[in-house]
Amino acid sequence: MAEETIFSKIIRQEIPTELLFQDDLVTAFRDISPRAPSHILIVPNKLIPTVNDVTEDDELTLGRMITVAKKLAKEEGIDENGYRLIMNCNKHGGQEVYHIHMHLLGGQALGPMLA
Ligand code: ADP
Repeated sequence: MAEETIFSKIIRQEIPTELLFQDDLVTAFRDISPRAPSHILIVPNKLIPTVNDVTEDDELTLGRMITVAKKLAKEEGIDENGYRLIMNCNKHGGQEVYHIHMHLLGGQALGPMLA
């Protein structure tokens, strides 16, 4: 069994966060250290530690993460100008929290991807 992270507590609403969306599959909340005017995390309710642990059974959940990102981008008013979706995997990808999450970043021009 993978070890729970702080995101499990956020999903269960045991610790405070700015919750933006929750359904049976995913939860979205504002990043505590925003790196853009809009910085939202979209996470599966189920604990999947890294993208390497994703299986075909998770395809509905992963698809839901994208449709929720799209909906939130519109709500944030950043859909027209555009935004970036990022998933970091393991050390070289810069993953800090081992519960997969999609970063939704926007509200300004973000520059080259690896900058
Ligand atoms: P990185 O920090 O390199 O982006 P990750 O891709 O693992 O690594 O992202 C983890 C994200 O979780 C970070 O953006 C961090 O600010 C955010 N975070 C950590 N703890 C909380 C929290 N309690 N509430 C909201 N966001 C959090």
